Amino acid sequence: MSTKPEVIPLVDLQTQYQNLKPQIDAALEPVFQSAAYILGPDVERFEWEFAKFCQAKHCVTVNSGTAALQLALMACGIQPGDEVITATNSFIATAEAISFVGATPVFVDADPVTYSMDPGQLEAAIGPKAKAVIPVHLFGQPADMDPILEIAKRHKLKVIEDACQAHGATYKNRTAGSIGDVACFSFYPGKNLGAAGDAGAITTNDAAIAKHIQLLRNHGSAKKYEHEIIGHNFRMDTLQAAVLSVKLPHLAAWNEKRRELAAYYNARLSEIEGVRVPQVPSDRQSVFHLYVIEVADRQSVQAALSEAHVQWGIHYPKPIHLQKAYAHLNLGRGSFPTSERLADCIISLPLYPELRRDQQDKIIDVVALALEAASPDKKKLLTSVSS
Ligand SMILES: *Cc1c(COP(=O)(O)O)cnc(C)c1O
Repeated sequence: MSTKPEVIPLVDLQTQYQNLKPQIDAALEPVFQSAAYILGPDVERFEWEFAKFCQAKHCVTVNSGTAALQLALMACGIQPGDEVITATNSFIATAEAISFVGATPVFVDADPVTYSMDPGQLEAAIGPKAKAVIPVHLFGQPADMDPILEIAKRHKLKVIEDACQAHGATYKNRTAGSIGDVACFSFYPGKNLGAAGDAGAITTNDAAIAKHIQLLRNHGSAKKYEHEIIGHNFRMDTLQAAVLSVKLPHLAAWNEKRRELAAYYNARLSEIEGVRVPQVPSDRQSVFHLYVIEVADRQSVQAALSEAHVQWGIHYPKPIHLQKAYAHLNLGRGSFPTSERLADCIISLPLYPELRRDQQDKIIDVVALALEAASPDKKKLLTSVSS
């Protein structure tokens, strides 16, 4: 008789649901009973709770993180022909939102230590058409905000945080979502705070921006059939607010658990030749949305993990400037060497609050064995092609 081998998923949403099933089921029931599915008190309550969690004055929910980015750009007055500076080492949504308001994304390379936008390269990307900058708090770690804010201020650029991976992360004791002019969050199911479908939010300390986004997400309307501006239908479902309000009180503990798991991975994996573990500067706290390492001989590590039924991911296999969708910008290979190098050597290991120690040990052993078996020339980490 053979038993099915245990699969270790990259993200485990089933276990989380099982742990919260009574509360989630109880929260959904009244929404169905009232049949009030759009906006309403549940959505307002979640907005109030999430603003508080982010230490921001206002929160406006929308139907995805991508919609949050698009409306944040519109509320910051970004127009066709403008340029918006962002990271090429990110999920494509950041750049898409810029393109969909008619502006052009201008990319900045990644810092080789933190993987997010290198502030040292920001100023060179700012031309006369630049109106805003979108730093991305990648993998749960805040971007280096102080130099970014200082440069943005000098050049009169709005600062929009892409905090879609960073619910609860802190930078010099400020919480992601309260640092720039406006911030965007995603509640895509696999994010640290995930809905049962697509959802998102913006947070801001600026009442005018919040008001503008409230109008933009709901046909430009604050009062039924009165339309002050031309808007969208980007509302978040009431059912999602009910789910998110059940999960939010657990988020701080989940983030803490992710940090503990990451610290254990770091301690053991940093002993292995051919692995570079994530580094978090002491002025920030990551919420480890993803646990991303650099490895020598990625192919062998991928094959060994798959063989052992351990799921892995690559975030991301191709920087945005090399995507076909952005071929018209004519940015070839060599434009952003750090981001290009990372795409070739990073791998994401399973990380979620419910991950067990024995599962972690198994994952680490598989990585160690794969790299031990690699030939000496494949044990060296890739270094940047530029310097
Ligand atoms: C998930 C994500 C988005 C988009 O969020 P959606 O809710 O999927 O639209 C944007 N930026 C980053 C960095 C993300 O990780």
